[in-house]
Parts: sequence; structure tokens; C-alpha cells
Amino acid sequence: MTDIQKNILSIKTELGEGVRLLAVSKTYPIENILTAYKIGQRDFAENKVQELCEKREKLVNYDIIWHLIGHLQTNKVKYIAPFVDYIHSVDSLKLLIEINKQAQKLGRSIKCLFEFYIASEETKFGLTLQEAERIINSEEYKKMENIEICGVMAMASFSNNEELIRTEFKKLKKIFYELKKKYYFGISEFREISMGMSSDWKIAIEEGTTMIRIGSNIFGKRNYNN
Ligand SMILES: *Cc1c(COP(=O)(O)O)cnc(C)c1O
Repeated sequence: MTDIQKNILSIKTELGEGVRLLAVSKTYPIENILTAYKIGQRDFAENKVQELCEKREKLVNYDIIWHLIGHLQTNKVKYIAPFVDYIHSVDSLKLLIEINKQAQKLGRSIKCLFEFYIASEETKFGLTLQEAERIINSEEYKKMENIEICGVMAMASFSNNEELIRTEFKKLKKIFYELKKKYYFGISEFREISMGMSSDWKIAIEEGTTMIRIGSNIFGKRNYNN
């Protein structure tokens, strides 16, 4: 067994029921994806549209579930709309309109998560609860038939402060339940809380994550120059 396979199996022993492991394959080669695939890993996540498209093209014959977890520009939605399963990074009405439009053209439905801004440090992307509610209450949103909102996603601060990270995850969980109660009560598709990466996934599990996004803990140290 390879290290990649050992890492996946070891993480999986710590996941409770209802928590999915997404292997974040950004910057790693196709061979690494296949190594993970061989022991049953099916959910893979990328953060860049071009890289996602290139990898998917080479792996078109594999039953992989593809997740986009990075910022998505409206003009790039069309490239991933034919095959992407989950888009975790919905951070504007404009983007959601475009995802719905492209999915409609293809006669499919795309699962989406609202990305929230929960970190105490400055990051560029993510909604506040109010902004998400503004989207949900818009006339455009109510007419959408080709997207399925299935939950919320966020990144915690890059920090060693465990209590800070825990507080941020709690914030996301609270947002999830607030939206669930107000807009998605009884809608079983709205069930995902996407939080937790290599450095903080154990805290995320304690705080109720349903999807952890792990890259370097599976595939090894990342080389961004690849
Ligand atoms: C890269 C990335 C991850 C995984 O990061 P690791 O620290 O390698 O586990 C998770 N989520 C997002 C949004 C990412 O961009």
C-alpha cells in the first residue's frame, strides 16, 4: 500500500457516519488521484477551473465526483457546468444566476454551497448571513430550477489557535442551522457543512462538519510550482 492510500484509510477510521472525505488534488498529478481512486476514494476537489477541466478530461471514464472549492469567476462557469457535481464557492447572486443558466442549457442540475466569510483575518471571498439571505429572497433565486443548494462552506483562519478556529466553525454551523430553519426546513438536500482542512479537520469533526477537504495530509507537501 502507498502512503497516499494509508493516509486516506487512516483519516477514514476517524470519520463518523455522515462525514465525507474530499481529497483535494490541486497541484498533484493524475497518478496520485488514481492511487486514491484504487482504494475507493471517489470525491475529489480542485480549486482552479482550468486544472479541474484538464484533470477531468483525462479521467472522464472514472466515476469520480468532482467538487470545485476555489473562487469561481462568472465567465468560467461554462467550462465546468457539463460535469461538475458540487460548487462549494457560491458567493454572489450573479454567480448563481450563471450556474443556473449554464446548467439549464445542459438539462442538468448542479449542487451548490454558499461560501461564508467566518475568519477573523482578511480574506477576499465569502458571504455574510445577510448577503446570503438577500440572495435567497431575490426574485431571480426563486425562479432557479437547475441548481440545488445543499449547504454551506467556509475556511477558518490560518492559525494555530485552536479556540479561534473552533469559534469560527461554530459560526458556520450556526449559519447553517439558521438558514435551515428559515428557508430549507424539511428540505433534505440542504444538509452539508463543508469545513475542515489538513490542519483543522479534527476540530471540524467535533463541530459537526459533513465534508472535510483534505489535500496535504493525503498527498504530501504541496509544491505550488508544479
Ligand atoms: C487547498 C484547499 C484545501 C485543502 O488544503 P490542505 O491544507 O492541503 O488540506 C481545502 N479547502 C480549500 C478551499 C482549499 O483551497
